[in-house]
Amino acid sequence: MKVLLDDEGNVNYDKITRSSTVQELLDAIDIFLKDNELHCDKCEDSCCKKPWAVEFDNVCVNTLCNWDNNAVRDFIQDKLVMKENFFKQFDQYVLKKDANCNFVTKTNLCSIYEQRPIICRLFICSAKSHRYNVIRELIGAAYLEALVSEEKIRNIYITHTILDMIKRNPAVLAKDYSVLLDDIILYAQEEGWLDVDDLQELYQAL
Ligand code: SF4
Ligand code: SF4
Repeated sequence: MKVLLDDEGNVNYDKITRSSTVQELLDAIDIFLKDNELHCDKCEDSCCKKPWAVEFDNVCVNTLCNWDNNAVRDFIQDKLVMKENFFKQFDQYVLKKDANCNFVTKTNLCSIYEQRPIICRLFICSAKSHRYNVIRELIGAAYLEALVSEEKIRNIYITHTILDMIKRNPAVLAKDYSVLLDDIILYAQEEGWLDVDDLQELYQAL
């Protein structure tokens, strides 16, 4: 998988195959950013200093907390707050903050860069193609919802039926970002997160 600038000058990807994973897309973004370097340290309009929500996903929080359930519980209680995602209608955790993200340094860099949330990893501050934005939102939604679902599994007694329902999301209990994009797209379809018109476009090769 490759991330590139398409004919319209938008950030895009070449193709999704049956075996493409979220991690492959993240690796492709890293390669793209090496060739199209962002100068965050000199940026006067930092995306990390905007009032918008910084959304936290399960893999990010688990990694920051060294996969310790008690530390995850404390992190969620101390640093995050639950907010509804109005567009896709599910609950997600966002950072408690005013304007700046709590993890941005004085020199405009991310102090948790290696463990930063999936939404930050997928963000590129250039014009993006529609389908790049669609896949970015679907991946984000699956991993964000997974954090809330895992919190339910940890803290609340739930029946096997509810557990089976929760585990339909392929990102639930994921140890990393190696989930298949195909599985995320299928789950997004089941949840009504994906416009039928967008489905075909996601799989078209550039
Ligand atoms: S990623 Fe954010 S901080 Fe870095 S250059 Fe882009 S807008 Fe600025
Ligand atoms: S977690 Fe890091 S990359 Fe994400 S908004 Fe905060 S400072 Fe920026």
